Amino acid sequence: MVDDPTTATRVTCYECGFAAPAGSDEWETATHPSLGVLTRCPECGSTNTTGG
Ligand SMILES: [Zn+2]
Repeated sequence: MVDDPTTATRVTCYECGFAAPAGSDEWETATHPSLGVLTRCPECGSTNTTGG
């Protein structure tokens, strides 16, 4: 309900714990044939993240 600009959406990798803001250039992307564009961890290459 509260739009708090100080709380940017964070995305965290479940596999290695890497975290960066959603949409950050730090994240890589992977295109999945059915799911579309996924956020991919630059550290371990996993797409198992909390969001994005
Ligand atoms: Zn990772």
